[in-house]
Amino acid sequence: MHLAILSRNANLYSTRRLVAAAEQQGHTVRIVDTLRCYMNVTTSKPSIHYRGEELEEFDAVIPRIGASVTFYGTAVLRQFEMMGVYTLNESVAITRSRDKLRSLQLLSRKGIGLPITGFAHSPDDIPDLIRMVGGAPLVIKLLEGTQGIGVVLAETEKAAESVIQAFMGLKANIMVQQYIQEAGGADIRCFVIGDKIVAAMKRQAEPGEFRSNLHRGGSAELIKITPQERATATRAAKAMGLNVCGVDLLRSNNGPVVMEVNSSPGLEGIEAATGKDIAGLIIEYITRHAGPNKNRTRGRG
Ligand code: ADP
Repeated sequence: MHLAILSRNANLYSTRRLVAAAEQQGHTVRIVDTLRCYMNVTTSKPSIHYRGEELEEFDAVIPRIGASVTFYGTAVLRQFEMMGVYTLNESVAITRSRDKLRSLQLLSRKGIGLPITGFAHSPDDIPDLIRMVGGAPLVIKLLEGTQGIGVVLAETEKAAESVIQAFMGLKANIMVQQYIQEAGGADIRCFVIGDKIVAAMKRQAEPGEFRSNLHRGGSAELIKITPQERATATRAAKAMGLNVCGVDLLRSNNGPVVMEVNSSPGLEGIEAATGKDIAGLIIEYITRHAGPNKNRTRGRG
């Protein structure tokens, strides 16, 4: 097969690993810089141009689209889908997963366990918003945040009110969430390929911190997950329509709750923690599933 990896940076660990795994399995690969692609969207024969030429035909595209380029990146991916090229994750599924409000609403509709969560823009009754999610302590999140930045733990209702007011002053969309204290500063990243969890790691926050992000000093280790956690993660991936994703769970007293579904999960942390060849498994999955017009949406939606 001839594969394209849509990625802005050929030096990223995940990109390098996918190239190596594809070549090892006898495929050819080209890294295509998402933002350098351009296309005529009005033609009846969709195509993509790159560095002055029409891009060659690919059997499959692996999207590695960063959060900051979601809008343009999903448009490029949609163009590939319109051309009938197999894409590992489809553009609609990526768009869904990047919208935290939409994702949680979709997961809730499927009855998947979630922390009690409220969304607000400019609530005129902050105490009621706080009561709605069960009172303090609670977690307040900026919708646009990543890597744990913009995630605040408010231990009292007064603190929560002040933080919400401050975020409102910045005209930011916020999420107010029940604090899952019993998780003990740990979350579980389940790596999903197809309908299987191929690896899982526990990320533990450093002492005195509740956010377990590796960027915030958290550490990762291999973990064995329960059948209920396994089922929750695969159902979450299916609800989002993602073939490959990372599902982040918290262990709550009421069973596993999903915090987030990530459509471009990093490979470095999970390969290091589990010692598994995740990149190789992704390429194997593509080999089994790729083919002309094998996408569900073909660029619709
Ligand atoms: P980001 O998307 O920026 O990483 P998250 O929503 O994943 O933000 O939150 C960062 C970390 O904070 C999580 O990995 C988790 O450890 C912790 N955390 C987030 N929400 C909660 C919550 N409701 N209860 C307990 N811990 C939480």
